[in-house]
Amino acid sequence: MLVHKTEEVKNTVKSWKGLKVGLVPTMGALHEGHLSLIKKAKETCDKVVVSIFVNPIQFGPAEDYDKYPRTLDKDFELCTKEGVDLVFAPAPSEMYGEGQKLSNDTLTYVCPPFFYVNKLCGKTRTGHFDGVCTVVLKLFNIVRPDCAFFGQKDAQQVVIVKKMVKDLNVPVEIIQCPIVREESGLALSSRNKYLSEEGRKNALTLSRILNNIRACYKKGITDIEALKETAYGYLTDKHDLEYLEILDRNTLEEQEEANNDSIALIACRVENVRLIDNIYLGE
Ligand code: AMP
Repeated sequence: MLVHKTEEVKNTVKSWKGLKVGLVPTMGALHEGHLSLIKKAKETCDKVVVSIFVNPIQFGPAEDYDKYPRTLDKDFELCTKEGVDLVFAPAPSEMYGEGQKLSNDTLTYVCPPFFYVNKLCGKTRTGHFDGVCTVVLKLFNIVRPDCAFFGQKDAQQVVIVKKMVKDLNVPVEIIQCPIVREESGLALSSRNKYLSEEGRKNALTLSRILNNIRACYKKGITDIEALKETAYGYLTDKHDLEYLEILDRNTLEEQEEANNDSIALIACRVENVRLIDNIYLGE
């Protein structure tokens, strides 16, 4: 069932009285990464809602909002194959009002704490996580799911959404799912479509760097600078590194030394496509 209107979603979900509802929020252009979240939701819940919404307020003015891939027909087909009960694909006007200026001058935004935002992706993507939290809370209020499914691929996003849910007492359980990769190691992303064949090869560097950091940690190196320095041998002039960090995976705090709670996170541009990836150093 494909639905564009908020009221219709609310009415449908209401008719599922007593059943456990799972929500998978996405921006569409679905790939196996998204499908893994949907599969997990199907396993865990009685009814599954997938939202498909390229959220304008989480894109900066110089980002790829206009050219972000939009493939609703194919996405709906994939969702139907997976047994999704409802696909919610609202227009921006349905979410934010007709002709509404999209800014925090005129709209209520959810602003996650500076400590979580002022690092990693938030450092260069000003306002991104305000946009994410705002749309995620709206989706939670529209769908009222028991559980919501997010990918570790966007590790900072999950930590921030969990923090929002805790701080605002939102009655939903956040379930994190592992990163799905191509056999080559490349983490699946809707943005991989922008890469040329050569770009895809250069993009493999991200997972190679992360795997090597993990291997070095497993060999006993815990000095964070030493672990980060192992990346330099992999980077070429085809890589525009934005950040490489090793932090506590639950709190995103800096650590004195790497331990089993550490996560290594990388963001790097290849052919001007911004790619992110991460890996847990412990199990
Ligand atoms: P997006 O459509 O990019 O906003 O992603 C929607 C959800 O799918 C987010 O929770 C992402 O973390 C998750 N996701 C995206 N790529 C992957 C992947 N390769 N493996 C697992 N989850 C993913």
